[in-house]
Amino acid sequence: MIGQTIRSTEFFWAKTYHQPSAPLEGLLGRTFHKLDRRGKYIVAHLDVGYLWIHLRMTGRLYFSQHLQGEDRWTRAALGLDSRYLIFSDARKFGRIGFCLDLDWLEEKLGPEPLTLDAKIFGRILHRPTAIKALLLDQARIAGVGNIYADESLFAAGVHPLEPANKIKPAKALVLLTHLQAILQRAIQHEGATIGWYRKPDGQKGSSQDHFQVYGKTNQPCPHCGAPIQRILVTQRSTHFCAKCQKKSSTAVS
Ligand SMILES: [Zn+2]
Repeated sequence: MIGQTIRSTEFFWAKTYHQPSAPLEGLLGRTFHKLDRRGKYIVAHLDVGYLWIHLRMTGRLYFSQHLQGEDRWTRAALGLDSRYLIFSDARKFGRIGFCLDLDWLEEKLGPEPLTLDAKIFGRILHRPTAIKALLLDQARIAGVGNIYADESLFAAGVHPLEPANKIKPAKALVLLTHLQAILQRAIQHEGATIGWYRKPDGQKGSSQDHFQVYGKTNQPCPHCGAPIQRILVTQRSTHFCAKCQKKSSTAVS
């Protein structure tokens, strides 16, 4: 994408273009300078302004020579110099926006987990919220998703309903270390394909082959053999081992 200019924009599902955004016409003639990420947002720096993309549940990005081929889930297409950038999204929750600055994003999102230090992490934990809910709260820490929250809590031996402010500093450091290592490994494995996610070349990511607890309900815990349990925390599927991740008496129920 770098160096390519946007020649046309097509939105086949109007809601995919996030509102309020700068007028779509402003994208025409803009050139991609740099690709970045903030939290779960893909942020493309243009010569003027920013194009951002949030894939949500089922969003996919890939290049195609054709505007609409066999992919009936194409919601948007940007015509570049020599091909189209296709945004495909079966469930239609994904969003694309255009903005002239990123202040709104910075106001919305907490710090990045990969660059968090123990001191700031400790400050974030200073609330009685269940730790799983806190890890998913993008305003507190940006970019941790449901899968990696479960995997990190398991690796650190922390119960998902443990109130964040009851986690001792030494344990918090263990959790942060695992969270960062698990995210780094997931990046090396090029993401998890348990549903729709594909890399731009159409191949699947392989992170799902390394899950310890996520999606393993009733399967034996890899550490102790007890069956992995599944509960809901803030409406999100949560997997854990009740034996390895002991709940303290004060845990939020
Ligand atoms: Zn266990």
